[in-house]
Amino acid sequence: MPNRRPSRGAWLAAGICLAAAAAPTGSRACEKGSFTVLLDVGHSPSAPGAISARGKTEYAFNVALAAAIERAVASKGFAVDRLGAAASAARAVRRAGAIKRSGADLLLSVHHDSAQPRYFETWTYQGEQRAYSDRFKGWSLFVSQSGTHARESLRFARLLGDRLKSRGWPFTRHHAEPILGEGRALIDPSRGVYRRDDLAVLRSAPAPAALLEAGVIVNRDEEAALDTGSRRSAIAEAVAEAVDAFCAGE
Ligand SMILES: [Zn+2]
Repeated sequence: MPNRRPSRGAWLAAGICLAAAAAPTGSRACEKGSFTVLLDVGHSPSAPGAISARGKTEYAFNVALAAAIERAVASKGFAVDRLGAAASAARAVRRAGAIKRSGADLLLSVHHDSAQPRYFETWTYQGEQRAYSDRFKGWSLFVSQSGTHARESLRFARLLGDRLKSRGWPFTRHHAEPILGEGRALIDPSRGVYRRDDLAVLRSAPAPAALLEAGVIVNRDEEAALDTGSRRSAIAEAVAEAVDAFCAGE
């Protein structure tokens, strides 16, 4: 949930990241069995990211979705790693170090999205007052364009954006709003791909890398949809298809 824009240090501390790792360049297909996809589960139990409209942590959403993605990508014949609990609990700088040493071929950082505090309202859910915003919904993708894997990172993000769109889910444009905390460049306006050069996990990835915001969990309807096995499986299948296409050099 890259939502607010505090200092860069605060971003790093929040562990906000998405990364997709190295893909084959040109049109040569990769060897699936030796092509390793690293899943970076955003945030940690002690710094769990956004809080959903019903009070669930973003980290819990990220863990559940990453598990579904791991199954879907592995079922296509790829090797899949997830950052271990120690790495995922570590500060983002250490997490970036673990990613760098991983030897992954493609990195995907898994997150769920929020909104700027100015858009929040309150409601009562199961006796608790909760913050929510129904103003925004949809997924989004982030890539760095500053490193050696800029082009391949964007290629992977576009492949994934196409597959998410084809399922009928719109992407969100709220990260492009010219306000404090947003104002991100939408570098592929037809596929929901934004540029983020300030995230350590993307910048330091040893391979093409992308960050997926799977949807907006402070939106009450979207949270309910995202918190189902069927939606997780469908997102996971979209990711697996995109990895397959990336590997094939599309
Ligand atoms: Zn996040």
